[in-house]
Amino acid sequence: DVAPLLPVVGRGQSVPLVDGRSARSVHLDNAASAPALQAVADHVTAVLPSYASVHRGAGYLSQVCTRLYEQARTEVARFVGARDDDVVVFTRNTTDALTLLSGAVPGEVVVLDVEHHANLLPWQRGTARVVRAHDTVVATEAALAAELGRRPAALLAVTGASNVTGEVPPLARLAALAHAHGARIVVDAAQLVPHRGVDVAGLDLDHVAFSGHKLYAPFGAGALVGRRDWLDAAPPHQAGGGAVREVTTTATAWAASPERHEGGTPNVLGVAALAEACRALRAVGFDRVRAHEAVLHRRLVDGLRDRGLEPLRIWADAADVVGVVSFTVPGFAAAQVAAFLSAEHGVGVRDGRFCAHPLLARLGASDGAVRASLGVGSSSADVDRLLDALDRLRADGPRWTYTSAAGSCRP
Ligand code: PMP
Repeated sequence: DVAPLLPVVGRGQSVPLVDGRSARSVHLDNAASAPALQAVADHVTAVLPSYASVHRGAGYLSQVCTRLYEQARTEVARFVGARDDDVVVFTRNTTDALTLLSGAVPGEVVVLDVEHHANLLPWQRGTARVVRAHDTVVATEAALAAELGRRPAALLAVTGASNVTGEVPPLARLAALAHAHGARIVVDAAQLVPHRGVDVAGLDLDHVAFSGHKLYAPFGAGALVGRRDWLDAAPPHQAGGGAVREVTTTATAWAASPERHEGGTPNVLGVAALAEACRALRAVGFDRVRAHEAVLHRRLVDGLRDRGLEPLRIWADAADVVGVVSFTVPGFAAAQVAAFLSAEHGVGVRDGRFCAHPLLARLGASDGAVRASLGVGSSSADVDRLLDALDRLRADGPRWTYTSAAGSCRP
């Protein structure tokens, strides 16, 4: 049996069930937001008293806070293996990071139809050329090569790991493909960084984006890491204090990145939490993260298959898959399954179309699916609770009728 790899806050707390009883909660929704590591919670508590303005304050606490903020930048750069001349811009989340980059891309963007909306809609604001993924990685790469060869593009935007299927595309090969056609590559690493060590320099990625709240830190801080030149040539993401060198009433000389894109008072605590999560994961090591997850992932996938439930997949030949598993249960709407799991068993999953409507449509799941996703705080007992609850659903049906996963239900 596999225990949690690292302690997370709130694990196993008691939650109310629909019949008035309560149960130890099971969190299998790490892909949406992962609970904070205990180390992150401790760090936030420790640095909270240093609360003071960053960058411009002369006071001692301002200096402490500024150091904390800038050290976080260094830690985040190290966490993803950035090159020395890469820049780390702190953002609100992945959506914000990719939106920032979309305002800096000097040309067209090629993107697959399997992406989370965060890695599709920002590009649609400019010229996005959407390529249909094929049912193998190899054929999909050929389709991307054809599109990149057809007409020049500035950027290839790809997911690091699918938030629906967990599949990881061959990032080094895709980077080489983009570069061979004179394009850059950005990886939406929101679902990758919690599960795999990422090496921006080694994989030759130009930009990566991710969110703290999927990486065992609280909400509100994310990062865009990568090459500087496009960012320095672009208008600031947010115009305001801190983003400038000199201002008159008629003209502004903007600062270089990262300050250029970080106008306004930054989320110092969020960034400190994100950096602490990076540090803690590096300390435990991604070999152990991967090994822990692999056992649970196997148990989950085998358990579903034993019950005739086949996880959704895009590709037949994906070389790597992280612990994110989506499925449908014949005879039950996904929302009904998710609501049942929560209301009658205290098991938290997500249902719906996971902000990836085109992908769910092409997988034949436009009505939605159920997603269970693992993290360093997950255990084999968590997986078994889900599988046992699914057995109950199929044996007895739901005891209540659920009209939405958000909770409204009646006997
Ligand atoms: N990309 C992927 C692959 C995701 O899973 C998510 C979150 N579901 C995002 C982007 C967006 O992240 P955020 O909501 O933190 O901006």
